[in-house]
Amino acid sequence: MASQVFDVEPIPCLRDNYAYLIHERGGEDAFVVDPSEAAPIAAALRERRLRLRGILATHHHPDHVGGIAELAGGGDVWVAGHADDRGRIPRQTIFLEAPRGSFVPAGVTVAGRALMGMHIPGHTRAAIAWGLAASGGGAPTDVFTGDTLFAGGCGRLFEGTPEQMFASLRSITALPPPTRLWFGHEYTANNLRFAAAVEPDSPPIADRLAHLPACTTPTTVALELATNPFVRAGSVEELASRRSAKDSF
Ligand code: ZN
Ligand code: FE
Repeated sequence: MASQVFDVEPIPCLRDNYAYLIHERGGEDAFVVDPSEAAPIAAALRERRLRLRGILATHHHPDHVGGIAELAGGGDVWVAGHADDRGRIPRQTIFLEAPRGSFVPAGVTVAGRALMGMHIPGHTRAAIAWGLAASGGGAPTDVFTGDTLFAGGCGRLFEGTPEQMFASLRSITALPPPTRLWFGHEYTANNLRFAAAVEPDSPPIADRLAHLPACTTPTTVALELATNPFVRAGSVEELASRRSAKDSF
């Protein structure tokens, strides 16, 4: 996109986690999503001569917040999470009471973009999708989905119900088709093998599986609508049975 003046860089962490470094071209300020561990983020900041200003947590699991305490240090770095994750996200300073179904402004900017949040329970009870929108408003063009929506898959239901996951996936994929979705784990190959077992005659799934790069993030709303068996589930019951089948796949 020619008008894009900010970068989102996936930073591989732990075994298969992605943290995301966000910065404005030519600027010094940086923001990070879901830093599982501090070292890879600190190294990326040093190499690019960036200063960390804010941290976004999609949910409280250790493989998403493990690096926050060290990265936030004693400095003036804000830490944003859903209000209902209070006490579960280290050093949290922004407690967004984001609703289900639509994005609301978080009141801060990230690389010149307006930060917005939407509650997406299912994987955890306080999971939040973070969106970056043009500063003038409108739908976010880039959304961080944590462990709720993966490329070709969805997270396990640790603290939520199939109803909640169904509604959360619907809310995310109701965004415009080109919306970029940046997710929490590189599980895509396995997810698409499951998708191919669910829909063996689907050309889009077979084609996606045959042309997978090593790093598959970001995906798009359009691609998930065409290939993700959980997004494509026609009912809560169908999502629930696919989720249990996937647990033992
Ligand atoms: Zn998780
Ligand atoms: Fe995770």
